[in-house]
Amino acid sequence: MTANHTIAAEILHHRSKSLAKGDPVSLPIVPAATFHLPEVAGAAHIYGRNGMSTWEAVEAQLALLEQAEVVSFPSGMAAISAALMAVLKQGDRLIIPADGYYVTRVFSAGFLAPFGVEVVEMATRDYDTADFSGAAVVYLETPSNPGLDVVDIAAVVARARAAGALVIADNTTMTPLLQRPLDLGCDLVVAADTKAPAGHSDVLFGHVAGRDPALMARVRDWRRLSGAVPGPFEAWQVHRGLETLELRLERMCASAAVIAQRLGEQAGVTAVRYPGLAGDASYAVAQRQMGSGGFLIGFQMASAARAERFLTDCRYLVQSTSFGGTHSSGERRARWGDQVAEGFIRLSVGIEPLEVLWSAMAEALGES
Ligand SMILES: *Cc1c(COP(=O)(O)O)cnc(C)c1O
Repeated sequence: MTANHTIAAEILHHRSKSLAKGDPVSLPIVPAATFHLPEVAGAAHIYGRNGMSTWEAVEAQLALLEQAEVVSFPSGMAAISAALMAVLKQGDRLIIPADGYYVTRVFSAGFLAPFGVEVVEMATRDYDTADFSGAAVVYLETPSNPGLDVVDIAAVVARARAAGALVIADNTTMTPLLQRPLDLGCDLVVAADTKAPAGHSDVLFGHVAGRDPALMARVRDWRRLSGAVPGPFEAWQVHRGLETLELRLERMCASAAVIAQRLGEQAGVTAVRYPGLAGDASYAVAQRQMGSGGFLIGFQMASAARAERFLTDCRYLVQSTSFGGTHSSGERRARWGDQVAEGFIRLSVGIEPLEVLWSAMAEALGES
């Protein structure tokens, strides 16, 4: 029995003991904008932008996962922008990864910089040696997306602290079941629950987690005042997805470890990036910091055309952006302008039974 197993059971049963006779076992969706309010004092809910019960249920599950206070948002980017807006002010320096989720960079350049935040982009692998003096916020993402470079979170936190900076970690590629940035000293975690936590490619959602009540109060104020609030139906979908997160991740990560190994032995594959693979540049730090190598694999084929043909021909791959769904999916990242080789594919391993998935992949790889 591991800590993750206990968390998984707690997530499944977080409402069980508070049910009254005749209550629905599944979470009710409460689509309320307003609440009965003969007087304000003592009301559990007052107005839908301030809080509602269906969010609170998914936040209770996410709080179990994070072992921290959680504020939910209608997308990963809504959570990321909330965290940044909650901590930054004019004149601050923000360090963000040059090779991380690109919308975070576009948001920072387009909206934070014009308000007087100095935005400094830095390659993820340079975080390990960077001097953070003068920074107000160090924002990291590990493994980076799509390159899968890993940084030592505790070491970054130590240097950021010494420089007087706060640290925010985007933990989307791992989830708290595989990596725990708050335990390693980060001030805030942001995540897109759109990916593995919701898991079925049918809803956008996000959250901010943290253990400093003052910081979290500011994040909560941002949600209420900006109006970036999730809908009750979306919260319900994520609540349902989270019930199977631990089970899905176990299959996805176990399959990814085998597939990464086998990809490395294929003639048509010129390079493989998987932090859980012995020999990967990030293997040592991944072993210390991550519960497994994850479910994302980067690999390279000889050309854009060859990579596209593999994606089209493999029966059990969805050709889509995003990752973490039940279906395995893949795409050539250079089509978005990412700084990767033309034939580089980001593969998200899903929950298909391993050997069925692998034989479809091997067949598509074998066609010369
Ligand atoms: C998808 C993603 C986001 C943004 O999430 P949305 O729900 O699409 O807004 C942020 N960070 C990472 C690492 C992601 O993969």
